[in-house]
Amino acid sequence: MAPLVIAHRGASGYLPEHTLPAKALAHGQGADYLEQDVVATRDGALLVFHDLYLDALTDVREQFPGRARPDGRHYCIDFDLAEIRRLRVRERRDPATGEPRFPGRFPAAAGAFGIVTLEEELAFVQALNRSTGRVAGIYPEIKEPAWHRRHGIDPGARLIETLAAFGYTRPSDPVFVQCFDPDELRRLRQELGVPLRLVQLVEADGPPLDAAVLAQLAETVDAIGADLRLLLGSEQATTGLAGAAREAGLQVHAWTVRADQLPPGCASLDVLLERLCRDLRVDGIFTDFPDRVRAYCDRLA
Ligand code: CA
Repeated sequence: MAPLVIAHRGASGYLPEHTLPAKALAHGQGADYLEQDVVATRDGALLVFHDLYLDALTDVREQFPGRARPDGRHYCIDFDLAEIRRLRVRERRDPATGEPRFPGRFPAAAGAFGIVTLEEELAFVQALNRSTGRVAGIYPEIKEPAWHRRHGIDPGARLIETLAAFGYTRPSDPVFVQCFDPDELRRLRQELGVPLRLVQLVEADGPPLDAAVLAQLAETVDAIGADLRLLLGSEQATTGLAGAAREAGLQVHAWTVRADQLPPGCASLDVLLERLCRDLRVDGIFTDFPDRVRAYCDRLA
């Protein structure tokens, strides 16, 4: 079966990440799921935004001089929503040099984009589902839950409340909730009784994922969301993680497929997708280029 196409921060290969145009494009390109990273403001609003700080993606330094922490960064949680709404979102840059992270993508000076709240984005996705007659699911990630709680906000509980308000309450609803923090996922499942599908994110420099660890994860979550490097291994051989996870009863979703940043050993996007789909048989693919992955998956089907 062809894997799910998960638009990583929207169609972010073409438009600035997590803007509504990037989500609309991903929806139109046939993504099965649209990703939301979730961070909080000082006054408790949930934003769809990837970083804890605003510097790499907005004009916060020009608009709010003197509001950085000692590390030089402007944190979302130090700003109220009304202030966040004044910011202009641009294509991702290196905050130190100002150089674009992906030089071939949407020009930083073009367009006028803003940060949206989770509520605004969910309303937008549901409106698109209605107007197009095609349902795209949502795939929110709770960013740094323990850090947020130290700042007085419980983003996991707030996220679940918001999802419920938009009708996402059952395991069969088109939603996956993802997090790197296994304690947070256990808390959602066991203490808060969340029935939605949960995804444990795993990264290349994390603890080893042997059969016992995967079996334990499977008691809480439905899938792992794994860094490509964890799955692909070397050019000659895959790591075995995808098979071991499947054996434990977990789905495998891979991140992140980028046409303009291929992993070592993959000479083309098709080679990468072939390894993921045919060799590893992953269940989902996070991608900045939903149209390209959709086209491959449609050929596969
Ligand atoms: Ca994410």
